[in-house]
Amino acid sequence: MKYPEVKNFIGGQFVHDNNKRINITSPLNNVFISSVPLSTYTDVELAVKNAQNAFSAWNGMTSKMRSQIFYNYRQIVEQNIAELAAIIHHENGKTIDEATAEVKKSIELTEFACSIPQIATGEVLEVSQGVECRSEYTPLGIVACINPFNFPHMVPHWTIPNALMLGNCIIAKPSEFTPITSMKIAEMFKEAGLPDGVLSIVNGNREVVEAICDNPEIKAVSFVGSTDVAKTVYRRATSNLKRCLALGGAKNHLIVLPDANLELSATDIAASMCGSSGQRCMAASVMIAVGNVNPLIKKLCEEAAEYIPGKNLPPLITKKSFKDISNYIDEAVKKGAKILLDGRKFKLDENADENGNYIGATIIDWRNTNEKMPEREVFGPVFEIISAKSIEEAIEIQQKSPLGNACSAFTQNGGIAKMIAQQATAGMIGINIGVPVPREPFSFGGVNSSKFGTGDITGKSSIQFWTNLRKITSKWAKHEKADWMS
Ligand code: NAD
Repeated sequence: MKYPEVKNFIGGQFVHDNNKRINITSPLNNVFISSVPLSTYTDVELAVKNAQNAFSAWNGMTSKMRSQIFYNYRQIVEQNIAELAAIIHHENGKTIDEATAEVKKSIELTEFACSIPQIATGEVLEVSQGVECRSEYTPLGIVACINPFNFPHMVPHWTIPNALMLGNCIIAKPSEFTPITSMKIAEMFKEAGLPDGVLSIVNGNREVVEAICDNPEIKAVSFVGSTDVAKTVYRRATSNLKRCLALGGAKNHLIVLPDANLELSATDIAASMCGSSGQRCMAASVMIAVGNVNPLIKKLCEEAAEYIPGKNLPPLITKKSFKDISNYIDEAVKKGAKILLDGRKFKLDENADENGNYIGATIIDWRNTNEKMPEREVFGPVFEIISAKSIEEAIEIQQKSPLGNACSAFTQNGGIAKMIAQQATAGMIGINIGVPVPREPFSFGGVNSSKFGTGDITGKSSIQFWTNLRKITSKWAKHEKADWMS
């Protein structure tokens, strides 16, 4: 399947440019499917100019009027789930089922945006006799979002609908690996009636990100990606006095006790580590085994072995990711870890292309070596096992992790589950759940080096990020003092 060349979407049009282009190849087979422009400061400036022209009319609409466009948009997305899922499958590699689930999550995020007129209502109070104080949310103006490859449809929907609903104009920067989906997002918003200039898509890599961070007209930047880049973006945007929320990488711990439900836990953990081939910031990464959980580990190995590359285990995004993960497994072997399931040796599904970036599910057991498991994120279907002598020690290990996206407890003991939930240093906690993504209206975000900035990126928390709170205090003379006829 080949797609038209990717273009920037500025001023409501897909625009031609003379930028250098890079090829997009599908992770499924490494066949060329399109090309994407490496845009420059000039392209970001053009998007900003168009946003400036669009802002006052957009902000001048009531939020109820704006929400009608999002109701239209929601319907268009719903009618085109299959087409969107096919594009995501081709450019990202995830399975059609996973891509379909991603689009459905975007629909839920759009529905939350539609509810913003009911939520972002501000407050009013008579603060002293005859004096009224009222607060209201006002948009920041022009804002931007920078997105990763792993959820090319859902992650842009963490930000675009809410930021726009609240009256801002937004410039989105897709990952250069998965920009085709964003062209569809733009097309569908246009069809839904979004005025020109309110949403722009500027493609490229580092230069576009730097141009966004440096442009004085852009008031806030959200970023989702790896921790090192999140730090760079957060530093650059905030040093230019912008508001910034930068979500980084993850290495999520599961604290597992011997009383955990064997069947359900093994199935859930295998699905968490293998879904999207582990290329999810909420994927299960590390089991901290408290006591003897060997029967569960045995069952987990059996379940994970059922994930067949090219069938229900999708490819990695690039050949480089494959190399990085293979090197990680080699490093673990050198350090004396036991490989319970080796993803370097796998049998590809007969319908898959051997040129795809496939790797098998991998389980690394560090329990019988004195060497430490590296702290760095492994973005693939790799699950590691370490041990702790007590719940307290398990919590302490988790708390020392530099990252803090998610942590889950697997146990039938409510008291212990509560203790883990209260003490783990992670933004999102699961109890007997391997992927504890909070659904709307709860918000999404981690702690430590999984997130820089305050507040969360979705749900009610995002309302504060995309707005200023204006406070209006008023006092009126009594009616009888007014002289209407003079
Ligand atoms: P990435 O950091 O490589 O890229 C993210 C974005 O930054 C892309 O748009 C890319 O073009 C841009 N970029 C890359 N290098 C840059 C640089 N040096 N300077 C400026 N911009 C740069 O991330 P990725 O590989 O696309 O996505 C995977 C990562 O994202 C993983 O680490 C994953 O954990 C993380 N992620 C985190 C969350 C979360 O909610 N915390 C969600 C999804 C993905």
